[in-house]
Amino acid sequence: MLTNALTDKIDDVIHTDVCIVGAGPAGTTIARALDNSGINVTVIESGGFKYSNTLKDNFSLAGLTTDLWIGREYFTTHTARQIGGNAVSWQGWCRELDAEDFIERDYIPLSGWPVTKQELDPWYEQSLNILKLDKPTADTAIDKTDLVSSQFQISKQRFTGTWKTKLKTSKNIQLIYNATVSHLQPLSTKSDDKKAPARIQALHIVTENGKQFTVQAGHVILAAGGLGNPHLLLDSAKRAPAFTPLQNDWIGQCFMEHPHYTPAALVWINKKAPVDIANDITTSVPIYYLSRTLREKHQLMQSSFNIDPLDVAAQMPEEWREHFLTTHFDEKTADELRKIIANLHNEQGSWHGIYIRSEQAPNRANVYTLAKKKNAFKVSKGRMQWNYHAQDLDNMERSTRLFLQELAKLSPLLQVKFLLHDRERYSKHVIGGGHFMGTTRMSNNTDTGCVDAQGQFHGIENLHIAGSSVFPTGGFANPTQTIIALSLRLASRLKEQLKTK
Ligand SMILES: Cc1cc2nc3c(=O)[nH]c(=O)nc-3n(C[C@H](O)[C@H](O)[C@H](O)COP(=O)(O)OP(=O)(O)OC[C@H]3O[C@@H](n4cnc5c(N)ncnc54)[C@H](O)[C@@H]3O)c2cc1C
Repeated sequence: MLTNALTDKIDDVIHTDVCIVGAGPAGTTIARALDNSGINVTVIESGGFKYSNTLKDNFSLAGLTTDLWIGREYFTTHTARQIGGNAVSWQGWCRELDAEDFIERDYIPLSGWPVTKQELDPWYEQSLNILKLDKPTADTAIDKTDLVSSQFQISKQRFTGTWKTKLKTSKNIQLIYNATVSHLQPLSTKSDDKKAPARIQALHIVTENGKQFTVQAGHVILAAGGLGNPHLLLDSAKRAPAFTPLQNDWIGQCFMEHPHYTPAALVWINKKAPVDIANDITTSVPIYYLSRTLREKHQLMQSSFNIDPLDVAAQMPEEWREHFLTTHFDEKTADELRKIIANLHNEQGSWHGIYIRSEQAPNRANVYTLAKKKNAFKVSKGRMQWNYHAQDLDNMERSTRLFLQELAKLSPLLQVKFLLHDRERYSKHVIGGGHFMGTTRMSNNTDTGCVDAQGQFHGIENLHIAGSSVFPTGGFANPTQTIIALSLRLASRLKEQLKTK
């Protein structure tokens, strides 16, 4: 059933078995997995079927502290409040995390998931159906190098269309949209009942036209995105300072992205040189990465590389190109690039950019917090403090150098130019992918995280978190396929729990 909170009649208190906050990929996946289960599910979504500028303005950041040029708009444009969440405008790049991403690496502080890849494999398999992907082909080690060749598949799923129809006709799922959860209210325990398990009693909901109602749920699942999840927890913790489980000081900490940049260029002198270029990326994108042995030897985090045509830069109006070159690169590099672009399609071959998507280390200096300012919904605004730190930049640089060394082993005909000459300058221009991870990190140890291996919030028996905010580390793969896999796993667990009650 679909309910528009702005126009439809809504009870002051709604009782439900499971309340899911957010109808992005995580929330809709869980809701659909619980369809026809006999479990009553209420999904509360801040947005509607269209993008709303009012929501954008109200829920934009109040502040951003960063050395990056990226600007506050980056977070606004990557936190769409709309049914389908950010996947309405995502690019659909999908890949599973690698087995080693789940393992503790002693040179990456706070690394190691309390889940193994093997445990997630059945859920990854089910995610293929949802994302309309093929079974991934095995990665291939490239002879005589320490490189591995792989790919991202491209999903066309948008989590709207057919999902809307399914939810509309569902007997046990109600999606209430244009409704924003302002905070969670803990169950107050009497002083003589301190041993009673801590629970969330109700969710308070507000709308743009001033309506208010509450949902009382057996289980609460936050699927409000990488910033939405910590935001709700921080706001709820502030309103209930005596409720100790919510005073978890990892909420909002260790925000991670995937640094994206073009750190090198490649000339493909002989057209038969054996490299895969990302020319047609409608169904998949060929990538390379450094072998695990090489990375462990050099204590490197994960990175993937793809080889893009540089034509985009060549096609820019000259004035823009000059601005791009002079603001991004030191003089020597800019000069090299001018020559590269001028000779883009010379007789010997063509120039390509080597694009890196890297891992960012968990770091408590990257943190999402509440601002003092409130929006028109009387909800606190958020602030972000985020940078790429020495370990992240160092990882990009050293990984790129090794990648170029290995690539050169493939053929003497391949020529590469390293472009990262001036860290002070280029580092400000490294961007992210709209991948907001780590802000309610998963750890079996309450001293190093917010949720356990199943996504249950530590110390609160009926509160669960879905989405990339639970990732303790992010590998190089884009996050959504793992979000879907974890969501399916959480839905299955809840189904089991509720069946046995
Ligand atoms: C331009 C772009 C390109 C991307 N490309 C890729 C890609 O190629 N591959 C990939 O894997 N990922 C990509 N991503 C990231 C991907 O979109 C996210 O990983 C994914 O959408 C996260 O799903 P989610 O359900 O956890 O959160 P979201 O998609 O953020 O959904 C959260 C939902 O919760 C709602 N919400 C938030 N707070 C509240 C509240 N208080 N009350 C009620 N509702 C609330 C929001 O309105 C939203 O609908 C891209 C993102 C963008 C923006």
